[in-house]
Amino acid sequence: MIRMHSVNKSFGRELVLKSVSCHIERYTPTVLLGPSGAGKSTLLRCINGLVDIDSGQIIVDNIPLPRHPKKLRKFRKSIGMIFQQFNLIKNISVLENVLCGRLAYTPVLSSLLTKFTNPDYEIACYYLAKVGLYDKRYQKAGQLSGGQQQRIAIARALVQQPKILLADEPVASLDPKTATAILDLLTKIHEEEKITLVLTLHAVDLAIKYARKIIGINRGQIIAQYDTDKVNAAEIYSVYDNCDNSDS
Ligand code: ATP
Ligand code: MG
Repeated sequence: MIRMHSVNKSFGRELVLKSVSCHIERYTPTVLLGPSGAGKSTLLRCINGLVDIDSGQIIVDNIPLPRHPKKLRKFRKSIGMIFQQFNLIKNISVLENVLCGRLAYTPVLSSLLTKFTNPDYEIACYYLAKVGLYDKRYQKAGQLSGGQQQRIAIARALVQQPKILLADEPVASLDPKTATAILDLLTKIHEEEKITLVLTLHAVDLAIKYARKIIGINRGQIIAQYDTDKVNAAEIYSVYDNCDNSDS
């Protein structure tokens, strides 16, 4: 579903992705695993064009990632994204935040929350119910707990009706119990909505539990790839423990 060929990306003089080639298969929950500064977020952001690559190729569903802004905007409809810090607008309602995910489908952005249609509201309420927040839809997003805010972000990504959901450290700012609940929810969504899930994680145990495929990254390079049903967890731990990110 997502193919990367020899992708290079620098920020200034720092080569952050070094000839990255990989294949993320459809409906195969995939975790990009690596230490801080490895390039996980950059790689994830390249997939939806938030970060422009210097060279190489990214192909999603047999279509090369477009560079032209208008084409890229259209392309991005099929790729939802959630973030560690949720990236919500805290002083508007939960429902309005979720509706923001429909902006790619609205004609003009000038008078924001007036242009949504009844189907937009129906889709937003459907996904709010799915993430367990329908009853809180009129509350301000900022009043909700961290776990609930991440659920809003998930619903906002889902109303885009994406084929792929990218999640950048979706549980890093949550306590372990809430983190498990969010990863369980993402897994359920992947199964029910047939969405291809790609996550970045630091935690090896969570990667082993929730991924079917793990792509190990260190210093901008892919260092290992595992099918979690075929590999011994100790092997993943030992590779990960030997990652050297001392100057990142
Ligand atoms: P973490 O686990 O801490 O989130 P990561 O694996 O996601 O780390 P990235 O955020 O992809 O790592 O960063 C990889 C390298 O690229 C780092 O050295 C970082 O400083 C650099 N980098 C990332 N984004 C930018 C940017 N916009 N401008 C300059 N440097 C950047
Ligand atoms: Mg990151």
